[in-house]
Amino acid sequence: MPLRLGILGGTFDPVHLGHLRAAEEAMEFLGLDQICFVPVALPPHKLEKNIVSFESRWRMLQLAINGNPRFCLSDMELRLPGKSYTVNSLKNFGKENPGTELFFLVGYDAFFEMDTWYEYKKIFALADIVVLCRPECRQDEILEFATGKVSGLYEAVPGTGRIGHPELCSIYNLLNTRMDISSTRIRELAAQRRSIRYLVPDSVWSYIAENALYQKGSGGPVNFELARNGDG
Ligand code: ATP
Ligand code: MG
Repeated sequence: MPLRLGILGGTFDPVHLGHLRAAEEAMEFLGLDQICFVPVALPPHKLEKNIVSFESRWRMLQLAINGNPRFCLSDMELRLPGKSYTVNSLKNFGKENPGTELFFLVGYDAFFEMDTWYEYKKIFALADIVVLCRPECRQDEILEFATGKVSGLYEAVPGTGRIGHPELCSIYNLLNTRMDISSTRIRELAAQRRSIRYLVPDSVWSYIAENALYQKGSGGPVNFELARNGDG
């Protein structure tokens, strides 16, 4: 039986329980053998933003997946030269794992940006796409996007969550548990010295605290400006 390999790319700044739970549910629903987390080295869409070092994001991912033998970590996007393009990574995963069936996991928000990605149409021929609810989740919108931006021949297969195509790979709408957690929110909370516990694994929580990630400057436990003007 060919290996069924899930791939979840992202900035993972930081990895959180929304990523981990969605990956776990995708693995179960689609009978995947493994899910590889692929942190982007140079995200083309986030070049202007400050993101923590690849090493720190990698370390947090290591801590997060520790203990789950079906989760793996890939440095694919670090090894490929230049900007991180999903199409190149998927081609390489295919080359390095011949005979493996690839499933590209993507959150509901990121899916609808795929038409801005480099050579995006090729992605739909390289791997089944698994769209994760986050927490929005509308199969009709996914179908509309796929038919409008990729190919008019996509059709929903009733009762399966699958959108099929005569030549291209399938698109799945995974009805995963909706977890309204984002790295952006976690960074904001950490910057305000507020708790991020139970949004990330405990080990990641400790790592962020020990390394004072996402905190601007040092200083006391409460930021005076935020205490006065904060959104809490
Ligand atoms: P940021 O707020 O910095 O964009 P993020 O929480 O969206 O961070 P990413 O690293 O951008 O995290 O996400 C990697 C992938 O995981 C993307 O496809 C994203 O849509 C998906 N994802 C992120 N959070 C969730 C969640 N809570 N549930 C399901 N999918 C998610
Ligand atoms: Mg994101």
